[in-house]
Amino acid sequence: MQRDLAEISDGKIYGWNDMVRVSCNDCAGCSSCCRDMADTVKVDPYDAFFLTKGLEKEFETLLSKEIALGVEEGMILPHLKTDGACVFLNQEGRCKIHAFRPGICRLFPLGRIYEDGKVSYILQTGECEKQNCSKVKVGKWLNIPDRTRYEAFAMAWYRLRKEAQAVIAAQQDEELVKTLNMFLLHNFYLKPYDMQADFYSQFEKRLEQAYRILRA
Ligand code: SF4
Ligand code: SF4
Repeated sequence: MQRDLAEISDGKIYGWNDMVRVSCNDCAGCSSCCRDMADTVKVDPYDAFFLTKGLEKEFETLLSKEIALGVEEGMILPHLKTDGACVFLNQEGRCKIHAFRPGICRLFPLGRIYEDGKVSYILQTGECEKQNCSKVKVGKWLNIPDRTRYEAFAMAWYRLRKEAQAVIAAQQDEELVKTLNMFLLHNFYLKPYDMQADFYSQFEKRLEQAYRILRA
């Protein structure tokens, strides 16, 4: 694992309060990472909650233009649509949904790793076009409130995905795989969240339901 990390990063592992060299003058004049991103900007349930809230649209409606479905290790997962450029990039090369952009966009060029039961961060080398970025705290860069709950969510979502992918990999019956995928998609994305209520407690209930099905 360390060798793999060394190949794609500066070899260091960062925590929320560590300083990291990523702050690039507000990306002035650059929108490189919002172009040709293929299916890499995955949308997790936290992103889905804030995208639907910010855009005032149900997730199902976003599936027609803004979000597509892909498959990662057998599990259906949504990602932002791109047509040469992200659907949310405006004519001036700025993000139209900056305040509620997905976690992967908030992180970039950081990446997230899940080791020893906790979430940490790496600096992916050669990803950001700009040179001489200045240092900023990881937490400030992400600008997501309530670090403890957010990182607990990120870890829980990672574990759920891994367990679902393992169940899918072991399942021979394609119809059952399809049914399981449809349940997960509905449970975490299509079933509307209560926008007036706390995201995390709603996610936790949906997580319990998912584990009940996965472990049945
Ligand atoms: S959502 Fe915004 S920051 Fe993320 S890829 Fe699209 S335009 Fe870029
Ligand atoms: S490549 Fe770097 S500077 Fe350019 S838009 Fe992305 S984060 Fe900003």
